[in-house]
Amino acid sequence: MDRVDVIAFGAHPDDVEIGCGGLLAKEAALGRRVGIVDLTRGEMGTNGTVEERKAEGEAAAKILGAVWRKNLEIPDRHIERSEENLAKVVEVLRLYRPTIILIPYWNDRHPDHVAASNLVTEAHFTSGLIKFLPELKPYRPKEMLYYFLNYEQEPSFVVNVTDYYDQKRQAIAAHDSQFGRRNPMLPTVVNTRFPYRLESRDRHLGARINAQYGEGFVVRNLLAIHDPVEFWK
Ligand SMILES: [Zn+2]
Repeated sequence: MDRVDVIAFGAHPDDVEIGCGGLLAKEAALGRRVGIVDLTRGEMGTNGTVEERKAEGEAAAKILGAVWRKNLEIPDRHIERSEENLAKVVEVLRLYRPTIILIPYWNDRHPDHVAASNLVTEAHFTSGLIKFLPELKPYRPKEMLYYFLNYEQEPSFVVNVTDYYDQKRQAIAAHDSQFGRRNPMLPTVVNTRFPYRLESRDRHLGARINAQYGEGFVVRNLLAIHDPVEFWK
């Protein structure tokens, strides 16, 4: 199996676009191999069918430059910590051996985002254990980067995604069943207030690093800078 540099995990088929679409487009443009894994098919979402959401996710992955997008088909609203679900995530980590993984931030208004955060975090640890799923070689990605959906905190760092922001917007717009203005469509937090809030956050974080748009990430480990002169040059 060809390894990838980055895997972004989401609970639903539009989470990674919202939280780290700019970073994914940037890494792909830098020549890195980017994979996307949705834990569920989003079948409990207020708008859109499973088929629509699958097609939208594939279109968005193309826009961002991902090499593949997979769905683990865990039932929506049931992202629980079970051996079966843990094994599904560990299998992806061990087959594709990413350097970093992107995960929803652990605090969120949507319980699925919290559950996805916890499940993938636990899978990251478990994936390094030699006695878990012994038929696959253990592997633990170097770092987990948590991206923001609804709730946020002071990020550990911000990535300048200005040059990739149009791709992020297009990738989000590809999820027409969620963000479109179709009729009939039920108003939700996602299709009414959220797009404005998201863009404000990305602009604000960008402004704080003297860029137009930025995406913030949290890491639990302290960041080490190897050469401060090179870093600030
Ligand atoms: Zn979601």
